[in-house]
Amino acid sequence: MQRYSRQREMIFEYLKNTTAHPTAETVYNDLKAQSPQLSLATVYRNLNLLVEMGKAVKLDTGENVDRFDANTDNHYHFVCTCCHKVSDIFDGILSVKSIEDIVGDGFSVEGHKLFIYGKCACCNKKS
Ligand code: ZN
Ligand code: MN
Repeated sequence: MQRYSRQREMIFEYLKNTTAHPTAETVYNDLKAQSPQLSLATVYRNLNLLVEMGKAVKLDTGENVDRFDANTDNHYHFVCTCCHKVSDIFDGILSVKSIEDIVGDGFSVEGHKLFIYGKCACCNKKS
C-alpha cells in the first residue's frame, strides 16, 4: 500500500511538471529508470486514480490513446495531426452563458470540451 501511494505521488509530480499531455506509456518510459519496480499497469491504474480524485483529467483526442493532464482548469487543446503534439489553449474560453445561448431554451450546460485539429507552428514551418 505504502509503495503504491509513493508511486502515485511520483506519477503526479511528473504530470504536474509537464505540458506534453503524456500517455500512460510515455509516463512509464520516463519514470522506469528512477523506479525500476514500476509497471505500465501500475502507471495506468494510478493515472486513472488521479483522474477519479479530481487531480488530473483524461483527454480523449480521438486518436485511440488516452492522454493525461494535471491542469484541471477549463482550457482547450490543439491536436497536431502531423506530429500528434497536444498544446494548451487558454484564450477565448466560452462562458457557460454563451454556450447556453447556443444550445437553446430549456437546456442547461454542465461543461464543455474543445479539441482543435490542424498543424502546429513547428510542422507548418517544416512543410
Ligand atoms: Zn506538429
Ligand atoms: Mn492541457
